[in-house]
Amino acid sequence: MRFQDQVVIVTGASRGIGRMIAEAFAAEGAKVACIATTLEGANKTAEAIGGKGYACDVSSTASVEEVFAAIAADLGTPSVLVNNAGITRDTLMLRMKDDDWDRVLEVNLKGAFITSRTVAKPMMKARYGRIVNITSVIGLHGGAGQANYAAAKAGLIGLTMTIAKEFGSRGITCNAVAPGFIESDMTEALPQEFKDDVMKRAPAGRLGTPADIAPAVLFLASSDAAYVTGQTLTVDGGLFL
Ligand code: NAP
Repeated sequence: MRFQDQVVIVTGASRGIGRMIAEAFAAEGAKVACIATTLEGANKTAEAIGGKGYACDVSSTASVEEVFAAIAADLGTPSVLVNNAGITRDTLMLRMKDDDWDRVLEVNLKGAFITSRTVAKPMMKARYGRIVNITSVIGLHGGAGQANYAAAKAGLIGLTMTIAKEFGSRGITCNAVAPGFIESDMTEALPQEFKDDVMKRAPAGRLGTPADIAPAVLFLASSDAAYVTGQTLTVDGGLFL
């Protein structure tokens, strides 16, 4: 019960990796604020784990500030923020529209900037905070057809190191987790040959599951990781070794 009574905000908690992260925090005693684009989606997870659901577009400052104020009023000061919300709009660069670029950057990168800036003040006051950003192996290695996503996820690593430097003296750490290929709605549409190739190349011999990612997030969000900050922990079954 490492998170007993701590307030934990998980963005993108309606499904996939975010839902599993929210479940894992709740199982260790946290009061979890589950964020998704719709209240229905957020509540699906919240009701299953005894948390509270909120509809919020992480790329909008007004939406984040309103919802985070409601979370503070409902549950208390957040100790942990997990920036997990993310989207893809994959296509080769020559076909990529400005809007495909802008929206992926807005949600995956600007969203984490806005939410982190919003929780930083109360965390500084409490002199304690844990921010965990979900980046991707694509942010570390690039990915054909994913210029927007790779740039956003690489940017998230730069943001992670900067938050670590700016807020470290206030008891706030910021780290990132870089998942490999994880079974979720996001990867469902990938061709079977691609998945077979990943399974062949990864020493683990399989795709990952959300349950492979959550324990890494919880470690970085725990008080055990007090002296770990600005780091990116790859959880990819060894795919990029
Ligand atoms: P997913 O199943 O597609 O879920 C995405 C989540 O993000 C949903 O809860 C969605 O909410 C939420 N979301 C999207 N736009 C949002 C916005 N503007 N504001 C608030 N919430 C928003 O994705 P996943 O596979 O679990 O991925 C979760 C994270 O891990 C993402 O950041 C992704 O880039 C990263 N990741 C995934 C993989 C993988 O292989 N799956 C690998 C590396 C990294 P709604 O339900 O309301 O749409």
